[in-house]
Amino acid sequence: MQTRNLIAGRWTDIGSGGAIDVADPASGEVIARVPMCGASEALSALNCAFEFQPEWEATPITQRADVLRATAAMVVARKDSLARIITQECGKPLAEAASEVQYSADYFSSAAQEIQALNEMEVSLERPGLRGVVRHRAVGVCAAITPWNFPLAMLARKVAPALAAGCAQLAKPAQETPLSAFALAEILLECGLPPQCLHVLIGDAKAIATTWLMDGRVRKLSFTGSTETGRLLLRQCAPEIVRCSMELGGHAAFIVLQDADIELAVKGAVQSKFRNAGQTCICPNRFLVHESIASEFAARVAVAAAQLKIAPGLDAGCQIGPLIHDAAVEKVRAHVADALARGAKLICGGRTKEIPDRPDRFFEPTVIANCDPSMLCFEEETFGPVIPIMSVASEIQAIEIANSSPFGLAGYVFGGNDASARGVAQQLQCGVIGVNEAAPSNARAPFGGVKYSGYGREGGAWGLMEYVTTQYLALRSLEK
Ligand code: ADP
Repeated sequence: MQTRNLIAGRWTDIGSGGAIDVADPASGEVIARVPMCGASEALSALNCAFEFQPEWEATPITQRADVLRATAAMVVARKDSLARIITQECGKPLAEAASEVQYSADYFSSAAQEIQALNEMEVSLERPGLRGVVRHRAVGVCAAITPWNFPLAMLARKVAPALAAGCAQLAKPAQETPLSAFALAEILLECGLPPQCLHVLIGDAKAIATTWLMDGRVRKLSFTGSTETGRLLLRQCAPEIVRCSMELGGHAAFIVLQDADIELAVKGAVQSKFRNAGQTCICPNRFLVHESIASEFAARVAVAAAQLKIAPGLDAGCQIGPLIHDAAVEKVRAHVADALARGAKLICGGRTKEIPDRPDRFFEPTVIANCDPSMLCFEEETFGPVIPIMSVASEIQAIEIANSSPFGLAGYVFGGNDASARGVAQQLQCGVIGVNEAAPSNARAPFGGVKYSGYGREGGAWGLMEYVTTQYLALRSLEK
């Protein structure tokens, strides 16, 4: 397992900021010690990336695409070991980690396909003798800052299109979870990526980001993380007009219409809410269920939730792993306590499950009924396995409440009539919506939000476009 930072083609032990322990959230055990970088290492990486970027951009597209396709294949071939790394550093069940590995590989195959499909275009200028040609160029050196909850996929969805477009990539994964990022970098190098194209380092996040963003040579930032950090980074991007993609916090509504197939909705709720123990930015946080079926929905979700196996992520059959750290547990507790104090009704869960010799981080899947928008859990992301349910009287009320949040990443609508469920979905102010579908994310489709959830899209052709600039040539030919 690689535990060092990758800078300027070298796996290096040098870290001007000391070292940090990477711990398994399910045991608290240290699984690796990684050097912490600061401004000087960030600058070395940038110097190298900047120098090499034109060469990578000039590399034939087929050659770049071949590296990405080989990477996709090798990521899949190493699914088991990559999944174990993900589970060990972020805690999610092994089966979910394996899906994340596949999802990550898909970003590489998709980026390879999209860059080869990105052709020059002719524009009709309607002026004699003048031809309009539109083409695309790499943005330049890019920076990626990623979170811990999908440590492989969040990096893959940035690195793959950046490299496809001909950009050199600087990456700073979350310090909780650098190991899967290093493993991905190893694979890319083995698959023929010139080492100057990719630099992966953790350390003093602020110093690294400032070094990259205020320098003038980084032309693009892609960030996934909290809205608060996103705002801060946007300010840092302003002086040098660094282009940004921001995938920030979510606060998804899960709307269950009166005519919904309840069984499907219950299954969808469990699937979307409890993935990674509720620590995903698209997981539903506000369940808005028609009053005629709200109590049945709550009771059935509670039955399904109670059957989920809570265990360390590496245990066979684990469905709910630990939360990432103690502060996360405290936040979930606070949200549940606040809801109950304001009149909500606990249907199941509401506390941690004790597992001998394990840290107190295994939060039971929790269902709370009689919720309303005054509660904390309706105001901000819980980032834990809690289903807060509010009864609503109409579609209009559900849409109003869903859109009252300043966040707008994902949403879900379950309804028995395709056209009306889609009609409700289209009125939601968010970027990704599952209609009778609990897992809308797909590497070939655009992912991203509106309002406080950010802007820019990742995945498919949309993800690639974030890494290219459009160049228009007005060509007058002098040849006769
Ligand atoms: P989360 O709550 O998911 O940890 P953060 O926004 O704090 O969300 O972290 C997401 C990523 O942003 C991580 O890689 C983290 O190290 C990085 N980060 C946090 N604060 C800063 C900062 N001030 N400047 C640059 N990166 C930061």
